[in-house]
Amino acid sequence: MLPQSLLILTSLCLAFASLDLVAAAPVFRAGAATSNITPTIAVESGARTSRPPATHVHDELQARCLVLDDGEAKLALVVCDLRHISAEVAAAAKVIIEKTTGIPPQCVVISATHSHTTGGAKLEEREGEPYFEYSAFLTRRIADGVLRAHNQFEPAQIGWGVVEEPTQVFNRRWFVKPERGPIYGAHDNVEKVDTNPGYSGLLRAAGPVDPQITFVSVRSTSGKPISLLASYGLHYVGGVPPNTISADYFAIFADRVGELLGADRHQDPPFVGIMANGTSGDVNNLERYSDEELAKRGPQPKKKYQPFEKAREVADLCASKVMEAHKTLKWHDHVKLASVQRTLTFERRHPTKEEVAWAESVKAKRIKPMSTSRYSTYATVLAYASPDMPPTIDVIVQTHRIGDLAVATMPFEVFAEIGLELKQRSPIQPLMNISIANGAHGYLPTPEQHKLGGYETWIGVNHVQLDASVKMVNALVEMLGELAVKKP
Ligand SMILES: [Zn+2]
Repeated sequence: MLPQSLLILTSLCLAFASLDLVAAAPVFRAGAATSNITPTIAVESGARTSRPPATHVHDELQARCLVLDDGEAKLALVVCDLRHISAEVAAAAKVIIEKTTGIPPQCVVISATHSHTTGGAKLEEREGEPYFEYSAFLTRRIADGVLRAHNQFEPAQIGWGVVEEPTQVFNRRWFVKPERGPIYGAHDNVEKVDTNPGYSGLLRAAGPVDPQITFVSVRSTSGKPISLLASYGLHYVGGVPPNTISADYFAIFADRVGELLGADRHQDPPFVGIMANGTSGDVNNLERYSDEELAKRGPQPKKKYQPFEKAREVADLCASKVMEAHKTLKWHDHVKLASVQRTLTFERRHPTKEEVAWAESVKAKRIKPMSTSRYSTYATVLAYASPDMPPTIDVIVQTHRIGDLAVATMPFEVFAEIGLELKQRSPIQPLMNISIANGAHGYLPTPEQHKLGGYETWIGVNHVQLDASVKMVNALVEMLGELAVKKP
């Protein structure tokens, strides 16, 4: 084991406070803006993307930005309509944001929704490849969005709440009946759980879901809605035609919640709805039940959905739930903001002896893989075994305090149970989790889930040491503790 190095960067995002203004009551301000980040279409045939290039845009992709200011500290929250956000793009955007607005990087969250139909936006491409051009564009557009939100600061009131929508989240990892036969893993090992295992022969889900939608809402002092940012632990919905770019249900929610709040489409500046991804690494929108539960439910009408219909349904449900709670929201004229950031250094995931032996045998054509060609190949295992791979990965985690609401950000596709544990242990309640934030370093299962196996636990889609989630949750709880002792 390499020694864990833990670089700690803790800071209050102090803006310039003039000593002459001691008597003046601090004014809470907010601003929101969207910045179009849709990539070009039908010109990337040379790009190494995981799917065919997009030839159509159904709805424009946006970086949705909300910036808050308590008179001393500021906080910028950005959610991009992207499958992933690379750490490099987030870091580069933060450099520009600090230059143009003075907001330091630890007070800026840049996350991705995880829409799967964002043009196959593989944003980790190496320099010189076509997508690198998009990374530069994306960096500037994110920074522009934050600056525009900052330019539109106005005195504001803020409130937050938590609602539940348990009907749209399903754990996708299942124990299955033995008669279905063995489940083959990353090196043709036999695993205990299967990811997306079909719809029959299921015993029980391997993990929980988080049914909560946590949201924060800001309005002008005259009552005009400025922005609402929500977070829900749902991977994405889908139902998008092939080769089409779409921001999925996240964008429909953003629109719908504005309508329900009575935001005028032509108000100035426009209302900005935002839906972030909570902790959904193992949670999707495909209804799966055990055989036992299916027998109880009896024959169900199987609805055939038109493109985008399901995404609209989920978005409408979530927006309505948020609206119910919004009617009785407690509004605050002023809350304090504070942020704590740390860089955690994890050992990179290293293949086991068995995995390497299997991969070498496949490469030498001594054996044919059983079922692993679905996701993982021998080449991934060999690449991870290479001494050229950096031995550690630095990741950024953040906690923020918005009055009595806490926000935790994680740069992974985080399993639901990790988010639930964090919510349970947070000394500040409620807690909003935002995943795929400030980087995207693969799936993050717990050590217990690693023992069960399944796609998300495989090397290549999981990049870090097997107990990374334990270290990350402990760090975030400590950081929330640091925020809790600061006066709200
Ligand atoms: Zn995904």
